[in-house]
Amino acid sequence: MSNRTFTMIKPDATSKGYTGAILDQIIKSGFSIKALKWTKLTPSQAGEFYAVHSERAFYGELVEYMCSGPIIAAILEKENAVSDFRKLIGATNPANAEEGTIRKKFATSIAENAVHGSDSDENATIEGDFFFSKLERF
Ligand code: GDP
Repeated sequence: MSNRTFTMIKPDATSKGYTGAILDQIIKSGFSIKALKWTKLTPSQAGEFYAVHSERAFYGELVEYMCSGPIIAAILEKENAVSDFRKLIGATNPANAEEGTIRKKFATSIAENAVHGSDSDENATIEGDFFFSKLERF
């Protein structure tokens, strides 16, 4: 089991000014930041990041939304990082997310759901490598 996961604070949340509050909740929940970047995805980068969803009906919308504004990308460390972080962010659809979770507090809809969290150790590594070089992580 790895102790690292990968997250993005998505364009809906950065544009509403939730970046600080979300990072604060992440840190107070016991995660430490090992890499951090404020950036904006191009359509080709967003398409590659979400390639696993390319057959889904919402893929075009997802790519457009993820390029609609700046994002924060980060690598986080904590024991049991992947599953603890998925618990912290809550269900994909904020309507189904538990009280107190990041998506319950900050997300707008199933599409604009404030944060990304890796769903496996393998994907955490792939996604962290997508954004960060060796020189950018600690
Ligand atoms: P996650 O692992 O909880 O992020 O959920 P998924 O891997 O199933 O979906 C990836 C992302 O696609 C979600 O976080 C949403 O931003 C987006 N998404 C999921 N379902 C829908 C949908 O029905 N419509 C749209 N427009 N976007 C969706």
